[in-house]
Amino acid sequence: MLIDVYTIILLFFVGLVSGYICTIFSLKLPLKKKEYVNACDNCNHKYKWYELIPLYSYVINHGKCPYCHQHISLLYPILTFISGLLFTLSYIFYGFSYEMLITIILSLLLISIYVSDFKYYVILDEPLIISSILILLFKAIFFGFKTFLISLCSGLLIFLFMIIIRALGNKIFKQDSIGGGDIKLAMFFGFVLGVRLSIISLVIGSFLAFPVAVYYTLSKINKEIPFGPFLITGLYLVFIFMEPIKSFLTIIFK
Ligand SMILES: [Zn+2]
Repeated sequence: MLIDVYTIILLFFVGLVSGYICTIFSLKLPLKKKEYVNACDNCNHKYKWYELIPLYSYVINHGKCPYCHQHISLLYPILTFISGLLFTLSYIFYGFSYEMLITIILSLLLISIYVSDFKYYVILDEPLIISSILILLFKAIFFGFKTFLISLCSGLLIFLFMIIIRALGNKIFKQDSIGGGDIKLAMFFGFVLGVRLSIISLVIGSFLAFPVAVYYTLSKINKEIPFGPFLITGLYLVFIFMEPIKSFLTIIFK
């Protein structure tokens, strides 16, 4: 596999810009502040294009808004940098391939869900719809129409499966057991991984959330647990470790 230094640098910058845009939208869309995407969170002053350069504008202004001098959230530089790093690592691990493109999409979705679900208990529709379309498109381009159709049906099956689980959960616990955003996210799992691996990643996601649920219960924290970040982490892990997981499943179900 040929790894090119210029591509690494280019992808790092594309990752910075994409991660920055993704963070801005994930922080502002849930607040219905669409018209303020290019403005300060505090004073709503609209920034000029050169005041929106990822990382650079943060460093040059010492992490403060140049107009109201309030501190800008650290989430912006941190997530922007993480995105650049994940884009670069995707290329280093997979080269220019289907896996690289999917890991990049998953990285941005991961950032978006971590921000919106942890901060506002919401999984935005827009990034999910864009990611689903891209995933299905890449399936069709790289593997043909049949794979595209199987992926589409897998997503719909998982969606139905989750609807049934929610209906059962609501009946047993007498309250909303699974959020609508989590169900749509699970459908996305189906598009990426197919039915069998989706269920495994949902289980892994639930295991990851379990210690937090225990902590909330023991500390008597009366707050809802944002489930989305754990689920998407489960999906990310299963996608990265897909080959060993598949081999393990073959041994188990031989
Ligand atoms: Zn400001």
